[in-house]
Amino acid sequence: MKTIGLIGGMSWESSLEYYRLINEGVKARLGGLHSAKCLMLSVDFAEVEALQRAGEWDQAGRMMAAAAASLQAGGADCILLCTNTMHISADAIQQALDIPFLHIADAAADAVKAAGIQKAGLLGTRFTMEKEFYKDRLKEKHGLEVVIPGEKDRETVHRVIYEELVLGVIREESRREYVRIIEAMQQQGAEGIILGCTEIGLLVRPEDSPLPLFDTTCIHAAAAVAFALRPAEGITQPGQENL
Ligand code: GLU
Repeated sequence: MKTIGLIGGMSWESSLEYYRLINEGVKARLGGLHSAKCLMLSVDFAEVEALQRAGEWDQAGRMMAAAAASLQAGGADCILLCTNTMHISADAIQQALDIPFLHIADAAADAVKAAGIQKAGLLGTRFTMEKEFYKDRLKEKHGLEVVIPGEKDRETVHRVIYEELVLGVIREESRREYVRIIEAMQQQGAEGIILGCTEIGLLVRPEDSPLPLFDTTCIHAAAAVAFALRPAEGITQPGQENL
């Protein structure tokens, strides 16, 4: 089994989910007392959020790249960045690494395409919904069509993330707002919804939504488990290849 390196803390509410999901995933595959080999470097989200708000993306990117390099030096075999938004720094992170960086949008796009969906709605922070780094990857690398909410609804989605979800606050009223926004994207032709913020799955559950949900936290964690348990080349003994 390979060691998964996680850059967490953005927010720790979702980093907890990553830790649980990758351990559950390894246990489901290997059984018994097996658990994931992993390292997590958890940053102070207040520092990251201040850089985001100030538009200091290069500085935030250097912080992410340094975290990734530390995890590699600590023995990680791959890196996951446990937030969609900071994938704006994906290039800086990959450049700091000799090991694979498992991009969250690639994992999400693979899951969307596997479900036979061509046009997906995207929910996330204002940065993820509005800037090019995420939507363009879905469109240009994966050939998906992407729908985002209207301006006022983007404000609502963003505000709920930063004022509630990253603080562990789950409000029924906000859930209803998100469902209304999902319905509006359905009207625009979305066939499924990418929960492109790692905390949204804590608020909106599949049973709340009229459309299939693609929760990036679950999908990204599953991609990491698949990577960690992928048979090493040249090892052929059944059952022993991942241990
Ligand atoms: N966890 C969120 C995301 O997936 C938002 C927090 C952040 O800005 O990193 O984008």
